[in-house]
Amino acid sequence: MLSCRYLIGRLLLGRPASTVARSLAPGYVEIREANHGSEVLKYPQIWLRDNCQCPDCFHASTRARKSHWERGPLNIEVSKLNYNPEQQKLEVTWQDDHQSTYDMAWLRERDFGEAARKRYLEEVYKPPPQLWGKSDFPAMRREFDYQDVLEKDKVLRSWLEALAVQGFAILKEAPDDVNVARKLAERIGYIKRTTYGDVFEVKSKPNAGNYAYLMTPLPLHTDMPYYEYKAGINILHTLVQSESLGGANTLTDGFNVAAALQRHHPQDFEVLRSVPVNWFDIGHDGDADKPFHSLWRAPVICLDVDGQFARINQNTTKRDSRFTVPLDRAMAWYEAYNKFLSLAQSEAVEFKTQAGDVFVFNNLRMLHGRTAYEDAPGNKRHLVGAYVDWDIIYSRLRTLKFPHARD
Ligand SMILES: [Zn+2]
Repeated sequence: MLSCRYLIGRLLLGRPASTVARSLAPGYVEIREANHGSEVLKYPQIWLRDNCQCPDCFHASTRARKSHWERGPLNIEVSKLNYNPEQQKLEVTWQDDHQSTYDMAWLRERDFGEAARKRYLEEVYKPPPQLWGKSDFPAMRREFDYQDVLEKDKVLRSWLEALAVQGFAILKEAPDDVNVARKLAERIGYIKRTTYGDVFEVKSKPNAGNYAYLMTPLPLHTDMPYYEYKAGINILHTLVQSESLGGANTLTDGFNVAAALQRHHPQDFEVLRSVPVNWFDIGHDGDADKPFHSLWRAPVICLDVDGQFARINQNTTKRDSRFTVPLDRAMAWYEAYNKFLSLAQSEAVEFKTQAGDVFVFNNLRMLHGRTAYEDAPGNKRHLVGAYVDWDIIYSRLRTLKFPHARD
């Protein structure tokens, strides 16, 4: 520390208007950059050592930190600090004589300040969702040409951003082909296989194994709340739309409903965020040779590690009658659930896709449903669907946004 202080003094005296690096507070290095006003970048010394970029500590071609743990403690202190103005690098000599250099641009991107953290989370991690209610729907609706999505990366990116931000989008002019949903999934990356296969057909089926395969109205729901790894987006291609009055799509932004509940009924919000529900699905799809018994226990409203909305679970037809919570929690839950569903219903929009439309939405966020319809001879409503996981979508989006990302 003595040598550091000596160095600081020299830097401060010698170049008062230039960038200055110092380690005054124990355990930290501070950098006050010239032309950056009073802004101070501050890094834990242990973090600098942990992220040393020298070839002994970092394997550049795989962007991988080499393990330090077997090579002794990380908490070795800085012995000398120097800012190299020509190369714009921070040069560190450690008390064990190890040497590290860091590009200032690299350091700035990794600033621990709030603005830099927010920028990273919103630009690189996930675009923040724009919550919307019924009256906002026309402004939120995004349409893209199916063929453009397949052929143009720029359009693919816009489509995926719409799914992340607005939560849904509609592709137009898809061909009369049962492989459209699969092609879109594969254009993003990989289709998600489920107990309903890799693509699934939504049409009125005799002896239906799933409520969605009936002509009755389908209440607002999310698909597969009974999966821990719930499908991220639902790609629904309309091959034949019902000519009857019904068969329209209904849609509500579940995150917006959760936010409204949090604002106006915080106690109910807390109940739906904390009381687990048993979501289940027992049966088989088509042939009886692959029966399933899916079960996942989770609340209606799930938050992520940053306290943001992560996932809504709602499917009245897939909610187990076994409600394995203490008796007094059950009563409160029903009251809160009723408020949530009333809000969802009051904010739901209705629109009817046409043959050639592909309706795609975030299945972790949107509640969707369908009004009742009637098939007629020569007019049997027919949709083909596929799922893709958000891991795959966000990854694809980042490769489109940052094609030259190195770390
Ligand atoms: Zn090193």
